[in-house]
Amino acid sequence: MRIGFGYDSHRLVPGRTLILGGVSVPNALGPEAHSDGDVLIHALIDALLGACALGDIGRLFPPSDERYRDISSRILLARTLEVLSKGGFRPRNVDATIVLESPRLSPYIEQMRSNLSQDMGIPATAISVKAKTKEGLGLTGQGRAVEAYAVALVEED
Ligand code: MG
Repeated sequence: MRIGFGYDSHRLVPGRTLILGGVSVPNALGPEAHSDGDVLIHALIDALLGACALGDIGRLFPPSDERYRDISSRILLARTLEVLSKGGFRPRNVDATIVLESPRLSPYIEQMRSNLSQDMGIPATAISVKAKTKEGLGLTGQGRAVEAYAVALVEED
């Protein structure tokens, strides 16, 4: 068994869709990003790659590469799982926390878990997604950024 940790953050700006765990969350602001800016999946990808010591999301999917402009992060997650599989690694469970001041994410958490379960090929019972606010602290607390943290446990053949 190997454990990995991932973190991501994006500034929130007008005119972008807020996508978290593949779910479009109605909101006036969305992440400024080269891809769809799904911080939950980006943190998760880094946790998975980190567990296997296979680099990070920026190395696998460089933001300078136009193929990744506005791409769904679910596609990036699926490709990450292919990289893991080639290396003889399988994800076992993940735990993640999204930090966002508003809106409340509780209505969307089950769909996020379901999406991640599909993309990772593990049961939703092995996928934990939590949401917190930052109590007004910093850019995230002012509603101008979104952050996510994730850990992943991976089994090696
Ligand atoms: Mg990101």
